[in-house]
Amino acid sequence: MSKKSFKYYDYEVLMGGISYDYYDYEVHCRVKAGVVLPCEHPYGMNCRCNARRYAGRTIAWAREREIKRGEVKVKAAKLRVLAANQRTMAAGYRRQAAHPIYPGQDLICLSKAAISSALAARSETKADLLDASLSFTDPRSNPGIY
Ligand SMILES: [Zn+2]
Repeated sequence: MSKKSFKYYDYEVLMGGISYDYYDYEVHCRVKAGVVLPCEHPYGMNCRCNARRYAGRTIAWAREREIKRGEVKVKAAKLRVLAANQRTMAAGYRRQAAHPIYPGQDLICLSKAAISSALAARSETKADLLDASLSFTDPRSNPGIY
């Protein structure tokens, strides 16, 4: 939590009832009385503010949600790094299969390359699923939140 948005939140609490709307730079949305205001950008515009996602929710809830979304993004990125390493490993096995040192090594290496490629595909699919799970909170795919 940055000091800036916490200060704004404190300010709102200190004003006790008199609530001014402000822009939360951490969650990227306008807030009034602790509640996220609707996005006022044109519907077709990709404004990338989070008001469409969190309008009507409390800013505290939206912050928690953004932290969880960040954790999911990190997990997906780690899986993509793992997939890249698995693909590199598969390429290494294929290189070794082209220059076997002992009889049958080419078959062993090609099998290991196939396994590494399959693991890479699985890692990428898991990352894709995590990325897709993030879009379910977007009201553009769930208009019921409006
Ligand atoms: Zn917007």
